Amino acid sequence: MHLDRPLKKFISRLCASLLLGLSLTGCTSWRTAAEFENWTLYVEDDAEVDVDRYSSTFDLAFGAVETHFGPFTDTVSVHAITGSVALDSGNRGTITGEEDAVEYVEGIGATLVPAFHARGGGGLFEPSGIFVATLATGTAVHELVHARISELGLDLPLWFEEGLAHLLGDGIERDGRWVMDGFAFWPWLELQANPPSDEELRELFTLSAKREHSVRDNVLLRFVGWAILFDCLQECDGFEWQLWLDEFINSEDRFTWARTRLDRTMEESTMLDWMLRIEDEDPAVRLTTARGCWKLGDERVVKLLLDQLEIEEDDEVKVCLVVNAMASLGRGDISSRVERRLWSNGLRALRDVELPVKDEEEAARELYRSYVRWGRRRGRQRSFDRLERYWGE
Ligand SMILES: [Zn+2]
Repeated sequence: MHLDRPLKKFISRLCASLLLGLSLTGCTSWRTAAEFENWTLYVEDDAEVDVDRYSSTFDLAFGAVETHFGPFTDTVSVHAITGSVALDSGNRGTITGEEDAVEYVEGIGATLVPAFHARGGGGLFEPSGIFVATLATGTAVHELVHARISELGLDLPLWFEEGLAHLLGDGIERDGRWVMDGFAFWPWLELQANPPSDEELRELFTLSAKREHSVRDNVLLRFVGWAILFDCLQECDGFEWQLWLDEFINSEDRFTWARTRLDRTMEESTMLDWMLRIEDEDPAVRLTTARGCWKLGDERVVKLLLDQLEIEEDDEVKVCLVVNAMASLGRGDISSRVERRLWSNGLRALRDVELPVKDEEEAARELYRSYVRWGRRRGRQRSFDRLERYWGE
C-alpha cells in the first residue's frame, strides 16, 4: 500500500486586518441577525447566516481575548460576509461576491483571507468592526484582539499588534475552551527561508495601518511580529503583553531588542524544543503542538509524532498526530521506513477513534477507508477538509 500525497493544494490563511479602506461590491446594506451581550451580528441584506455557530464561536473567542485584554466595554459589530475578501494592498480590501478568492502573494504563495477588522473612521458609510468570510475560533480570537486594542485606544506599532493577534489566535478549541499554542509553522518556515536583513526589518517596523503598503509587506510584518513576541512568550511562559510592550518601549535600543528576539525564534533548536511539548501531560497542549506541524515536512518531527502515537490514549490527539504525519509526506523528504511506520500504526488509529464531533469521527473513518479501499480515494481530500481543525493553521 502506498500513501500518496495529501494536501497538495494547500492554501494559507491570512487574517487581514486594519484595512484602511474597505470597498463593498454589490449589496452594501446590513441587517441585524442577532444581538448578544457585547456584540451584534450583522448579515448582508439578502443573505442567511448560521447564528448558533457564530454565537458559540464568538462566545469562546470573547472569553479568550477578555482574559488577557480585559472586558469589552462597547458593543462589537461582527459582519458575516458571503464571498471572499480581495486585498488591493496591505491595508485596503474589497469584499467580492466570489467564493474563496485566493490571493497570490509574491514569494509566499496562495493565501485566503478569512476575516479582517476595519477601524473605519473614514467615510460616514464605511462600516467598522469585524468582517468574517470563513468562520473559525482562531480567526475570531485574532480579530477580537484588534477590536479590543482599538477600543482601548492603543496606538501600538502595527507589527506588535499583529504579533499579539497572531499569537493568541493560534491554538485549538478543546472541551469548550480556547487553548493557545503560540508556535506558528507558516511564519517560522517563511522567515527561515528568507530571513529579513536589518534594512528590511527597519522598513517593516515603520509600516502602519495608515500608510499604504504591499500585501507582501503586510504578510511579512505579521510574521516578524509573531516571531518577536513568540520569544517574549517563551521567556515569561505566559501571555504578558503589557510587560512586553513596556520592555520594548523602554528599551535603549529597540531595534536590537527586536532583532535578537526574532533571531532566537528562528533557530532550529527553538522549533525542535517546542515540538517536545508533544509529550506534555495535558492533551490540549499535545493537540495544539501537533496541529499544523505537517508544514515543516521534517522527518525528525514526524518521528516524534509517531513515537507519541504509540503511547497516546486521547483520540482527538491521535487523529491530530496521524493527520499531520500524513500531510508531512507531501512536504518533505520522509524516508520509506518512517512512511511504513505511519502506514501500519496511523491508519489503524484513524479507524478506531471515537471523537466528540461525530462529523470528524466519520471523516477519520472515511480517510482510513480512502487508503485501504480501492475506489474510495476520491473522498480523501474531502476527509482532510472535514478534519481541518487538526491541521489547518
Ligand atoms: Zn490581524
